[in-house]
Amino acid sequence: MTRISDSLQAVNNRIKTASIAAGRDPAAVSLLAVSKTFGPESVLEAVRAGQHDFGENYVQEALDKIDALKKLAPGVVLRWHFIGPIQSNKTKSIAEHFDWVHSVDREKVALRLSDQRPDHLPPLNICLQVNISGEASKSGVLSEEVTPLALSIAKLPKLRLRGLMAVPAPTDDPQAQRAAFAAVAVLYANLQNAGLPVDTLSMGMSADMEAAIAQGATIVRIGSAIFGYRHYP
Ligand SMILES: *Cc1c(COP(=O)(O)O)cnc(C)c1O
Repeated sequence: MTRISDSLQAVNNRIKTASIAAGRDPAAVSLLAVSKTFGPESVLEAVRAGQHDFGENYVQEALDKIDALKKLAPGVVLRWHFIGPIQSNKTKSIAEHFDWVHSVDREKVALRLSDQRPDHLPPLNICLQVNISGEASKSGVLSEEVTPLALSIAKLPKLRLRGLMAVPAPTDDPQAQRAAFAAVAVLYANLQNAGLPVDTLSMGMSADMEAAIAQGATIVRIGSAIFGYRHYP
């Protein structure tokens, strides 16, 4: 079995190689380790190997893990990113315990996160999730709604709009992968042209990070390539 530290190093090498191939500075692409379904010991192993940003999809699982890591790695500052679907009744826990939320896709959720962000914490970093494949069943904002929603969210006092996140429909075809990420990059450029100070394009997972980096990803969200296959309870 590969150790988590070895897998992390392999993923960091993939990021570096893909960045250089795309003519980009590898330091401009950061790694978000997606630890959903894996226990605190797995996160601790990644922390010991130098990883400090972790992504989680389920609120209660994440809160338990955040708490456990405070005890397992006291004094180590970790940044927790919420990347899963958001139910309105979970926004308070998210606002209180996370540093980033990548999956905001409606104004109501943004308003609640801003209202519920505690005053002693810095503004919550926000990415809007884009539904780039346009399927009605998938979460995310439709392309044409991205700029208007971004402009209104950017005004909320306890949020800091950082950019966009996307999970394109899975495909093995590298050309289709690149096309989907390129479409997200266009929406991102629209935000910059609208004068918003965005700096984050959260896209690319274990199977398609190279295509995402080629199209400008600044955060790749990697789970299985670091922690192994997930077993859902
Ligand atoms: C689970 C998940 C990931 C990680 O996916 P892998 O294919 O395991 O790398 C990334 N982003 C989101 C939104 C996820 O839900």
